Amino acid sequence: IYRDARFLTSANTSNTLPPEQGFEVAFAGRSNSGKSSTLNCLCEQKALARVSKTPGRTQLINFFALKDGNSLVDLPGYGYAKVPEAIKIEWQKFIESYMNGRGNLAGLVIIMDIRHPMRDYDHVMLEWAESRQLPVHIILNKSDKLKRGLMMKSLLETKKALKDYDLPVTVQAFSSLKKVGLEEFTEQLDSWFYP
Ligand code: GDP
Repeated sequence: IYRDARFLTSANTSNTLPPEQGFEVAFAGRSNSGKSSTLNCLCEQKALARVSKTPGRTQLINFFALKDGNSLVDLPGYGYAKVPEAIKIEWQKFIESYMNGRGNLAGLVIIMDIRHPMRDYDHVMLEWAESRQLPVHIILNKSDKLKRGLMMKSLLETKKALKDYDLPVTVQAFSSLKKVGLEEFTEQLDSWFYP
């Protein structure tokens, strides 16, 4: 089903969001964590979500429709160092209103670089998810960059940090480059889309 994902529409304000239809799973992550690569890997498409975008340009939420009427939702990446404060605040308001108000949102995937998990805005996303008890799945991407021992260490440390949250949350190592962890990932998504 993920292979058939097709771009549906973009929104840049709460007023331009498409009508709620089926279930949605949103994808969040710091810029450069590999959010686009992970979406492309999941959907087996080279350019579904554009890899390497211009930091600081208009922040869009992109909707991708699946054939079954559900959607994957690509939230704007966060953590660009050079983005002006005003744009960061705008980003925050827009994402927060989407996160709080979207009735058909079934789960949130947060992509993190396995070498630098749980940074600033990752915590903001987790807090928003916690406030509405939205289930979260954390992808520790770029696992190909670490040897097994360090990979396990990052997994454990991330799980430990998550104990501070009162939230249904799962974590896995992943590599969108080497396509490692795809089965675990799709099983989690399936459980949200087909409860
Ligand atoms: P985004 O800004 O979060 O959408 O990140 P991108 O998907 O554009 O990826 C950022 C950079 O990380 C690009 O140079 C990718 O080629 C690289 N990258 C993404 N996923 C992986 C991965 O699993 N392993 C490695 N080694 N590099 C990756």
